[in-house]
Amino acid sequence: SMASHLSLVLDLAPAHWHRADLSLAQFLPQLLVFLNAHVALTHANSLAVFAALPGKSVMLHPAATGPVAPDANAYTPFRELDAAVVANLVAELDPVAAAAPTALVGALTKALCYINRISPGTSTPSSDRASDPRILILSVSPDLSTSYIPIMNAIFSAQKMKITIDACQIFGPDTVFLQQAAHLTGGAYLFLDRRDALLQYLIMAFLPPAATRKVLAVPTQDKIDFRAACFCHKNIVDIGFVCSVCLSIFCQPVPVCSTCRTKFPIKTLKRLNASRPPPP
Ligand SMILES: [Zn+2]
Ligand SMILES: [Zn+2]
Repeated sequence: SMASHLSLVLDLAPAHWHRADLSLAQFLPQLLVFLNAHVALTHANSLAVFAALPGKSVMLHPAATGPVAPDANAYTPFRELDAAVVANLVAELDPVAAAAPTALVGALTKALCYINRISPGTSTPSSDRASDPRILILSVSPDLSTSYIPIMNAIFSAQKMKITIDACQIFGPDTVFLQQAAHLTGGAYLFLDRRDALLQYLIMAFLPPAATRKVLAVPTQDKIDFRAACFCHKNIVDIGFVCSVCLSIFCQPVPVCSTCRTKFPIKTLKRLNASRPPPP
């Protein structure tokens, strides 16, 4: 069977993990079962876990941890994985820093770099190389419009490296950016309707690698929000005005592109302004 690599990006925004219907303490065991299942599918499968925390991103696994006490009733790779994820998570969770937005893009970028490092073509021994690499983002935060451009850049990198991005929105509103990330990389985006069925969603939708999903009836999204965020105010816009030279997006017609400094004729500005729908 074919080895597959999974990099998990875990959104640990503390404000969203105190809910009665799914607390972090209820979530973690289900996550570990899912990660163990990925490792168990074939011995060649590889796994990395990244956490997006307020203002920083860290790698939780693989990571150097102390020796794990032997347990005759547990498969050692499972114990090592569980111990590393839990120990590093506990060490990194800091309730004081809770105000800053979580560094989702930072964690996503680290996942891309990690996959790049273990990919064919680098000096990595072939046994450790990633095949069929994918990233699964477990998100609890709404879109952060200031991260539109870095997220799009991460999506383009993933496309170039043939990395599939899956996303599961566990709490809150649908995220436009993660829908687009999944759509543009051939991955799946799922909004978690039933939080009591988290593990089932993870196993059904996200355990099979992209190649296997073609022959399975995996749940998928039926609508995608393709809206972009303007570069000037980072608002998500229904109608954007695109610089014809550098493709920057603005929420209103501008005389000069702030990205590439191209000047637009006053005639064009007038025509665009006249064509705009009246404000609601
Ligand atoms: Zn704007
Ligand atoms: Zn421009």
